[in-house]
Amino acid sequence: MNKVETSKRIEKLRKLIDEYRYSYHVLDKSLVSDEALDALKRELFNLEQEFPDLITPDSPTQRVAGAPLPEFEKAKHEKPMISLNDVFSEKEFEDWLQRLKNFLGKDVAPEFYLEPKIDGLAIELVYENGIFVQGSTRGDGIVGEDVTQNLRTVEAIPLKLEALNSKYQIPKRIVVRGEVFLTLKEFERINKELSEKGEKVFANPRNLAAGTIRQLDSSIAASRRLDSYAYGLVTDLGQKNHQEEHKILKELGFKTNLDTKFVNSIKEVVTYRNYWEKNRGKLTYEIDGVVVILNNNNLFDEAGIIGKAPRGACAYKFSPKEATTKLVDIRVQVGRTGVLTPVADLEPVELNGVTITHATLHNFDEIERLGLKIGDTVIVSRAGDVIPKIIKNLPELRTGDEVSFKIPKKCPEDGSGVINEGVLWKCANPNCGAVRRESLYHFVSRGAFNMEGLGPKIIDRFLDEGLISDAGDIFELKKGDIEVLERFGEKSAENIITEINLRKKITLPRFIYSLGILHIGEETSQLLAQQVISKMKNQNVKIKIGDIFNILRLLELEDLQQIRDIGPKVAQSIFDWFRNDQNQVFLKKLEKSGVELETTRLRSGLENEKLKGMSFVLTGTLSSLGRDEAKEKIRVLGGEVTESVSKKLTYLVVGENPGSKLEKAQKLGIKVLDEKEFLKLLD
Ligand SMILES: [Zn+2]
Repeated sequence: MNKVETSKRIEKLRKLIDEYRYSYHVLDKSLVSDEALDALKRELFNLEQEFPDLITPDSPTQRVAGAPLPEFEKAKHEKPMISLNDVFSEKEFEDWLQRLKNFLGKDVAPEFYLEPKIDGLAIELVYENGIFVQGSTRGDGIVGEDVTQNLRTVEAIPLKLEALNSKYQIPKRIVVRGEVFLTLKEFERINKELSEKGEKVFANPRNLAAGTIRQLDSSIAASRRLDSYAYGLVTDLGQKNHQEEHKILKELGFKTNLDTKFVNSIKEVVTYRNYWEKNRGKLTYEIDGVVVILNNNNLFDEAGIIGKAPRGACAYKFSPKEATTKLVDIRVQVGRTGVLTPVADLEPVELNGVTITHATLHNFDEIERLGLKIGDTVIVSRAGDVIPKIIKNLPELRTGDEVSFKIPKKCPEDGSGVINEGVLWKCANPNCGAVRRESLYHFVSRGAFNMEGLGPKIIDRFLDEGLISDAGDIFELKKGDIEVLERFGEKSAENIITEINLRKKITLPRFIYSLGILHIGEETSQLLAQQVISKMKNQNVKIKIGDIFNILRLLELEDLQQIRDIGPKVAQSIFDWFRNDQNQVFLKKLEKSGVELETTRLRSGLENEKLKGMSFVLTGTLSSLGRDEAKEKIRVLGGEVTESVSKKLTYLVVGENPGSKLEKAQKLGIKVLDEKEFLKLLD
């Protein structure tokens, strides 16, 4: 986006966020989830970071939360109590680090202290001569509420400090920062009691902790067992880094979190965050991410503050179950039974731990119900292990360039008419879905790309979920797209993606075979491959997919028929295929997705056609090479491979456990080669 577009987007985001705020706080009606609202605020924040001169004081990002309530005494903080900016992905984390380096004008060693980010309430504790004298909330960051009485009830907070390590003298005044929170168990217990009394229950432990700490009657606070960790030392006790702060706090008698960690690489930061995203359920309290803080205190201070947050620390949040993203396209895909299903193509977005690029739309009514136009900003949701869904459209953010979607009049697959049955739209050709399904099976497995573990069942599943609509889509699949499918875990998704990437290299004949051109079997594919190679101007240049098209498209019917073993029917089929523009688009798509041709073996074969005029039948299992490999070696050397034994056959190659072919060949007096002899012949 350029600055003008960004400015327009910023304006719309601010307006929408404010509408949601008004609805929630004034009308007491929540229109979107906190997570979706956070996503909008984050986008706004990021755009404002890109163009800081577009920041205005009335922007929702400039809002300072929690002005002190008049019921409480005010407590001024010695140093401002700041909150943290959020990052949500490895990319955003790296960007954060880069901004920090840019600001400091030097490289920064990636030494961080990591802590679980507890979903609680930040507090400040003041001790004079070792005695707890004041505890306060963050408030607006400068002035908080004095909640000393309530904090006294928290047993994890020491009322008197002991220098457990004689190294530290307890200074006259000491200021400590930390978090108060409720364990999940305590949260449930209190909510149950409230509900039994017919009182309002709390939505989450954080709200309940906040409500508790701001009770005017401290006996209520005492009845709810708040917990607390200390994590920051404001007073200078000679600490050089954050890790030391934790150590000192512990030695002074504070409760500190033992799941914290010092690391010195970005990779470890990501691992720590991902570990806790997966294992947050093991903790007795709720966390929504991890805190990453520059370990070196001097650097942290040097980095200073931007807005209301420090540059030297960030909250690396877990990915939410709801997020906003852009609807890039609505694709119509033909299911196995010929039903046309719309599928949403999305700008990649991280949702509940995985990156997704697709969402289901169920049927065409859904598009209307959501009021979707291509280009809209939408809220996507994924709870648990289900497929992501678009749950809400945000037409307020439209630019005017969005495109309406129309149900196609013709089937996108074969151009047949489209018929309507209730909410369903189907291709009028009852075989349509099946034909395409077969061609996909052929492409993916069955001798073409030979992807292991991607059998028909999995292909069907991908088709039904709208993850793929043609063979080219296979190579665009993302791990996250597969992982979210029911009965597919992270591991199997990873295996599938690995296998697909492994198979991106394919020999030229096999590639031509994979295209599923009518009447073109393995033998003809081999012949066409040789045509392509012989027409290449420079024989030493790597052949690209584009070359195949350029060369074969120029061949006239007569040229094709002159190729050995190609008859009129086959020639026509090849001719038609390469003159179809859609097929050109398809080939381009394959090339773009990284499919590469291996041609070296074939080229050397052209120079040495020592098996020319010989025919081979294979039977039994060869120990040193697969059957496909053996066939290819024969063809490369100019030989022919056939399936049945006849009098014209030159050799029968026999592996272990040969079938009835051996007997037949012996009867006909055909020369039989064992594996050793066969390999010698190839050599
Ligand atoms: Zn169709």
